[in-house]
Amino acid sequence: MELQIKNLSKTYPNGVKALDNISLNIPAGMFGLLGPNGAGKSTLMRTLATLQEADSGSVMLDDIDILTQKHELRKVLGYLPQEFGVYPKVSAIDLLNHMALLKGISNKKERKEIVNALLERVNLFQHRKKAVSGFSGGMRQRFGIAQALLGNPKLIIVDEPTAGLDPGERNRFYNLLSEIGANIIVILSTHIVEDVRELCSNMAVINSGKLLYSGTPSVATDALQNRIFEKVIEKKDLPHYHNDFNIISTKLIGGKPVIHIYSETDPAEGFRMVSPNLEDVFFKQILEAD
Ligand code: ADP
Repeated sequence: MELQIKNLSKTYPNGVKALDNISLNIPAGMFGLLGPNGAGKSTLMRTLATLQEADSGSVMLDDIDILTQKHELRKVLGYLPQEFGVYPKVSAIDLLNHMALLKGISNKKERKEIVNALLERVNLFQHRKKAVSGFSGGMRQRFGIAQALLGNPKLIIVDEPTAGLDPGERNRFYNLLSEIGANIIVILSTHIVEDVRELCSNMAVINSGKLLYSGTPSVATDALQNRIFEKVIEKKDLPHYHNDFNIISTKLIGGKPVIHIYSETDPAEGFRMVSPNLEDVFFKQILEAD
């Protein structure tokens, strides 16, 4: 099972080039598509989910041509969008039942079994009679996973799933997602590096519609070995460090800036070498591309 994206491009009518000649192979398992806001992630996700057209390029899921065989693709697709929009005031179980019917699960007994099993799986069975409109963000996302799993999809697309979740909800969501994708392709689009670090065996970084990196998270971090240095500094000295060093990230810890710089030689000046993390990879890729 493989998703092959070749030379995919999309320019919106206002002239924004949201996808710029993207080529990417995505194997089975959890795949993280990482990029800052505006990078083109939703455009790519919506194109893969057959919700919008590309200008050029091709996308194949094994032998299904996604851009032309939309109907075939939809039979094997599960999609969890960023926002569902307005939920009707119907119970979770009735809504999921209705979605199962739309997905073509026409046998009533079979449908009931599938719906109950999915609600159990995402830990919402005890809330099945409550309206989804009254669910918390985390519960909605878990409901979203349940509906995305209807009909045994081979490709599941989740667009920015953890934005707005509190840490507990995010953890529950991570656990649920990680149980799903071994034999199917799960693409997780996110601007949160931690999502990818926790869940994904393969990843890509995109920015301004361009592919900056694709591979495993560990190869990406290994490439920065012995090159990332850290120092806690005073706020007032930040401009000096910006002038003299290649700062790739600044974080406040206990109110003080902690900077990470990229350097091929020991910068001295009180810096210490640290193990590169995925944030370093992400910010360095994005800085280089700007
Ligand atoms: P991301 O999901 O990574 O935040 P998007 O795919 O939503 O990125 O957007 C990529 C770029 O395309 C952004 O510059 C955005 O403003 C622009 N864009 C997205 N949708 C449209 C649209 N329908 N019309 C015009 N520009 C759009």
